Amino acid sequence: MIDFKKGDGLVPVVVQDNNTLQVLMLGYMNEEAYEKTKAERRVTFFSRSKNRLWTKGETSENFLEVVDIQIDCDQDSILIKAIPAGPTCHTGSTSCFKEETPKGFMYTLESIIHQRIDENDESSYTNQLYRRGINKVAQKVGEEAVELVIEAKDDNADLFKNEAADLMYHYLILLKAKGFKLEDIEQVLKERNE
Ligand code: AMP
Ligand code: ZN
Ligand code: ZN
Ligand code: ZN
Repeated sequence: MIDFKKGDGLVPVVVQDNNTLQVLMLGYMNEEAYEKTKAERRVTFFSRSKNRLWTKGETSENFLEVVDIQIDCDQDSILIKAIPAGPTCHTGSTSCFKEETPKGFMYTLESIIHQRIDENDESSYTNQLYRRGINKVAQKVGEEAVELVIEAKDDNADLFKNEAADLMYHYLILLKAKGFKLEDIEQVLKERNE
């Protein structure tokens, strides 16, 4: 149960894209907006400027189709995962916030790798491999790529996935050894799609 009394009847609602997890917008709901949202599976806010219920997309048709509704730890804010029918911001942008698509686990792994190396953690395999130099790291990437190719010819899903993971992990170390970050490569890929 949401505690609508805490914030004079309005509760803040964060809407996330169900697919990219990008934050699309923030709005407020009163109890009526919340019930309508649940019933229609479309996000309806209480608009403070319009001073009435506002179904996002009511004129633009850029509705937010509800996939999941989560209430926070102390029942005074809401997180909604939704599928946007079009740009969520009235300016025509995907999101009301400038933040780009959220970064996935590969970026978390990249920071862990950089941490091990930057702290020169001697117990870390990552750091030990890195200290052996670029050629050694590149060679490992080559080996993992070959192992992946071999597994591609088989039909053992577990082995294939593990070799694919090995390759990605070593690939991140090679990027670090060359002084690049995943972001730099992502940029190249993005530009190809412009
Ligand atoms: P819509 O709900 O998309 O049909 O838009 C109706 C009106 O709501 C727009 O003309 C804007 O004034 C306002 N609006 C739409 N989207 C947003 C948004 N993401 N944040 C704030 N206001 C919005
Ligand atoms: Zn809270
Ligand atoms: Zn906006
Ligand atoms: Zn391997």
